[in-house]
Amino acid sequence: MESAATEPALSDPPRGTARAHLTDAQDQLPIIEQALGQLRESVVVTDAQVDEPGPHIVYVNAAFTRMTGWEMEEAIGRNPRFLQGPKTTRQTLDRLRAQLQKGEAFTGEDINYRKDGSEFYIDWYIEPLRNAQGEIEYFVAVQRDVTDRKTLEVQLLQTQRLEALGLLASGIAHDLNNVFAPILIAPQILREQAPDPRFAELLALVETSARRGVELVKQILVFARGSQDAHGSVQPRHLIEEVAKVAQSTFPKAITITTDAPAETWPVDADATQLYQLLLNLCVNARDAITGTGRIAVLARNLETQASQRLARGELPAGKYVVLHVTDSGSGIAPENLEKLFQPFFTTKAEGQGTGLGLATVAVVLKNARGYLDIETEMGIGTTFSVYLPAAETADRVAPAAPLLPRSLRPRQILLVDDEAAIIGVMRGVLQSAGHNVQTARSGLEAHRLLAGRRFDLALVDLMMPGEELGITARELQAAGLPLIAMSGLADEEVRAQIPGASILLKPFTLTALLAAVEGMDAA
Ligand code: ADP
Repeated sequence: MESAATEPALSDPPRGTARAHLTDAQDQLPIIEQALGQLRESVVVTDAQVDEPGPHIVYVNAAFTRMTGWEMEEAIGRNPRFLQGPKTTRQTLDRLRAQLQKGEAFTGEDINYRKDGSEFYIDWYIEPLRNAQGEIEYFVAVQRDVTDRKTLEVQLLQTQRLEALGLLASGIAHDLNNVFAPILIAPQILREQAPDPRFAELLALVETSARRGVELVKQILVFARGSQDAHGSVQPRHLIEEVAKVAQSTFPKAITITTDAPAETWPVDADATQLYQLLLNLCVNARDAITGTGRIAVLARNLETQASQRLARGELPAGKYVVLHVTDSGSGIAPENLEKLFQPFFTTKAEGQGTGLGLATVAVVLKNARGYLDIETEMGIGTTFSVYLPAAETADRVAPAAPLLPRSLRPRQILLVDDEAAIIGVMRGVLQSAGHNVQTARSGLEAHRLLAGRRFDLALVDLMMPGEELGITARELQAAGLPLIAMSGLADEEVRAQIPGASILLKPFTLTALLAAVEGMDAA
């Protein structure tokens, strides 16, 4: 092997401490050069010409070429502006120039462009390099490619926007369903009461248009919060692989990520995009809980239970599930925070780091997938979030045929409560034409007044009445012993939670559905 004193080749193994003190600048150069070449950050040195025509590149390291695609020879002598493009922020560049003119360092984030025209995000800083007299001779710019992190941030932001849109859409959908209900029902009555063939075509047109409206409302809901209709059979194993890929490439290298999802993992009935988001949110939280080095494990397991099980939050009914575990070796969750975790905007993270919407989104996705959640956590040890998703049913369910409904064989005394005059009008018409006796009320107060004087077999009640707490009239009538059909534009489970035991008629409903619901009720 060559002597280190004559030829300081870096491939030589270190011998004692002789090499550790290279005080001669000439000796240091090759080391510095190799160190710069080895850096993951791109390093660009320019001269100090801040004013037009601007600075020129005098040095770039190897990472610069890896990051941008430009070779050193192509970059030297050029103004670094050639890396900028349409999405590079004007304000950042103005601030950059102002700070450099004052001889100050600059820090910022921006979009730059590679040789092939593709864009990438950089997190960078520039420092002035001064000579012995204190004059600035060069600037050194150090840039880190943060495209992966930025992409992840944008994805998360998008989910959160969708969440807000979902809330907005369900509000509007409720009102729109109220608008469509009478439009859908009226043609059916008109056809029955005035079977004039001249109008048949017009009535069909009204019906088709109203149905189209209902479909559009549904579509908005599917897009915004993925209602049941966007569901399909999903293989969690693939999702776990996808999420792990993103985590592996964007999370700090000090965090080890392992996955385990056996090939025989059952498929689940869910919306793939939402489930992906759920896993990603849990992994991001796991990452944030870890300081320094740590581990995240994402596992899938099949589980079949014969009896129900207690979970930290509620009870898991017996059945077949796929369980997804996201485990971290992070900080753990303080007991006083456990209750608040799923509240929108609850966060313990520093401002700008947490939105408090991650777990709120998880809750929405779980509800849509009819899943359950469990948390095990210990301060200083770590946390496991377990998500229980019902395994997809393989057998196709056969929809029961809609019964034909002539005049009712069991005419009832019905109390109909709805604040919308148009809905009351058509519903009364339908029910009376089937032979029922109908009394109507436009508010809870009116309903109570009617209840005092008469006997009813059942009540048909709108859940959402203006100026009244959601479902209050329905609950009161139920408490008074009346069998109840609750009408609502809300999703099924939300209504069930409001008034357990009531039969539910989801708006907008058809004439057939309305009469079938009444026929299906036992009288008080
Ligand atoms: P955000 O992440 O934006 O703060 P989240 O709803 O995702 O909002 O989480 C709310 C809070 O729950 C977090 O701020 C954190 O305190 C806590 N949390 C969630 N997951 C974990 C975890 N794996 N380990 C420790 N704390 C967690």
